[in-house]
Amino acid sequence: MERLSKPAIRSALFVAVFLALCWSQSLRAQQDGVYTVAPGDTLGAIAVRFGVTVEALVAANGIEDPNRIRVGQVLLIPGADGSVSAPETVTGIPTAVVRAQAGDDIAVLAARYGEDPALIAELNATTTTHRLFPGQPVLVPTRAAPPPRLNFGAILTIDAPDSIVQGRTGRLYVTTSRPVALFGRLSDQPLHFNILDAQGLVQFAFVPVNALQEPGVYTLEVGYTTARGVDLKRTFPVNVVAGPYGYQEIVVTQEKADVLTSDVVAAERERVVAVWSQYTPFLLWRERFRRPISADYPTTSPFGQRRTYSVADIGNFHAGQDFGAPEGALIFAPAPGIVVLAEPLAVRGNAVILDHGGGVFTGYWHMSEIKVAPGMRVETGDVLGLVGNTGLSTGSHLHWELRIDGVAVDPMQFLEEPPFEMAE
Ligand SMILES: [Zn+2]
Repeated sequence: MERLSKPAIRSALFVAVFLALCWSQSLRAQQDGVYTVAPGDTLGAIAVRFGVTVEALVAANGIEDPNRIRVGQVLLIPGADGSVSAPETVTGIPTAVVRAQAGDDIAVLAARYGEDPALIAELNATTTTHRLFPGQPVLVPTRAAPPPRLNFGAILTIDAPDSIVQGRTGRLYVTTSRPVALFGRLSDQPLHFNILDAQGLVQFAFVPVNALQEPGVYTLEVGYTTARGVDLKRTFPVNVVAGPYGYQEIVVTQEKADVLTSDVVAAERERVVAVWSQYTPFLLWRERFRRPISADYPTTSPFGQRRTYSVADIGNFHAGQDFGAPEGALIFAPAPGIVVLAEPLAVRGNAVILDHGGGVFTGYWHMSEIKVAPGMRVETGDVLGLVGNTGLSTGSHLHWELRIDGVAVDPMQFLEEPPFEMAE
């Protein structure tokens, strides 16, 4: 893999921060991603008005019957790439999008997030007893109080997430009075810091949470080692909240099961783990991910689903997001990156892995054909390969996986949000 020189990294970071600032400004200006259905509206007309597909509206809003929308119903308008940005402007309260679980109404969901049901009902223009579809997007408030000034050693502020849903990725922001090498961990998971400004005084880390992490309170630790070799650090409680994950049993044909001996499965796991355990110490991207496949192809089996397989040792939850698509459909790079694996595998089929820097990798499994080679630099929208049904797959689809520091997290979050926010 190509390494950039230090001055090149510095100037790239400077340009990237400038772009990120411009970009976050423009995001705010257009962040009106909510529409209230008016008399005479159809989903088709709304789709045309906002330049999105009906399918994207259906998917973003968990709509069961596209012919039945009600006047006054609030719709999230996904971006052209099928992602949904959380509108901040509804009530002036910063919000995030979460997905409803089976059987949820607003009151149940509010209790899960420790929020006021009346406020969540208000944010979603509905009532506390309104029944939600599984997967339906719901706006919840994010607590965006300014971080307290700490002033311990070189550290001025730490903005730590107070809760993270299983399988989702939190962000940790630290400002310092001079550049320091920060360390951090959530429980046993070490975190990597990325520098956001030209002076090296603003840093952030992804905080990926395993989809199977037991809900509860964990300790987040942040600090640095002083010139005298003393560790200055602070700890913060982080509440890991249960995710909205269902359960599925996967039956594998005998023919496929015969090939997948535990030796084959273990060797392949070792191979991919070695790839996504590498670390490129700078981010190759700064923007929301683009959908890796046309919006014509719906999301199918979601990330995080608990699974059992009729063959042993494959894993116990769905580590990626599936998109149902015919063989030959194009698969695109969602962001700039470097191809670090492109080869046939027994379980994952024809596979590609991209390194996006900062410990972030995306994987694409079951392809019919691979169109890239290891070492290639790809840009957003470049074709990586074609959809197929190779490896342990029960039908033609794209399996899209996101790993941060080796932890599989929900890739859809990176369609919904930029990788980081710049401090005000
Ligand atoms: Zn999958």
